[in-house]
Amino acid sequence: MMEAILQEGLSSFALPSQGIPALLRYGELLAERNKVMNLTAITDPEEVARLHFLDSAALLTLTDFREKTVVDVGTGAGFPGLPLRILEPSIRLTLLDAQNKRINFLQEVCQDLSLTGVSCVHGRAEAFAAEHRETFDLAVSRAVAALPVLAELCLPLVKVGGSFLAMKSVDCTSELEAAGRALSLLGGRLEKPLDYRIPGTDVRHRLVIVKKIGETPKKYPRMFAKIKKNPL
Ligand code: SAH
Repeated sequence: MMEAILQEGLSSFALPSQGIPALLRYGELLAERNKVMNLTAITDPEEVARLHFLDSAALLTLTDFREKTVVDVGTGAGFPGLPLRILEPSIRLTLLDAQNKRINFLQEVCQDLSLTGVSCVHGRAEAFAAEHRETFDLAVSRAVAALPVLAELCLPLVKVGGSFLAMKSVDCTSELEAAGRALSLLGGRLEKPLDYRIPGTDVRHRLVIVKKIGETPKKYPRMFAKIKKNPL
């Protein structure tokens, strides 16, 4: 069932299908571990296929990920980062999350699938930036925070010339407007957002694309309490 959904979905994205066995195994491990720890609220296999795997895969149709260094900020159970790496093996991926149990799960999945070029890091984005400032071609993130906050977590990690990609719903217009000041303070420039539909569903999502056009001032990111209390 999941296999047929992935076949159909990837083919409608014109993406190759050789990653499907790895995605199926990842889905199996996710279902198994989710029984004993809270990794994801989505448990129905068809929904996992569509709302996790195909939603993540959509990004490959919107941006060139080949040979890129990518950080997934607040990856949770690995979305969107891990499906991206499975489907585009030339990506060098860092999966970052503040919850250790999620990072342990991701390490287990990477080992099980013998994935190379993936580093699973337990930590907070604002602390990770101290050592890894402006070192990634791309930062991606889904369902972590509103854009003004998210931009301060993600843009410091991106090289000048790279991009920050935020997966949002299509009704994020007011969030986008609220983020204008933050983006320019952090060295970002909003590009044209790209909308897509998850195959086999009516779900429409929007990829917000922020190009890094200048260095992020050293005072950002601030401590999380400050970011939250006083978003840019
Ligand atoms: N991106 C995943 C998970 C979303 S849940 C998905 O779309 O399915 C949000 C995740 O972000 C949680 O796992 C939480 O631990 C993590 N998170 C929140 N703030 C963070 C921060 N400042 N640094 C790193 N991870 C963070």
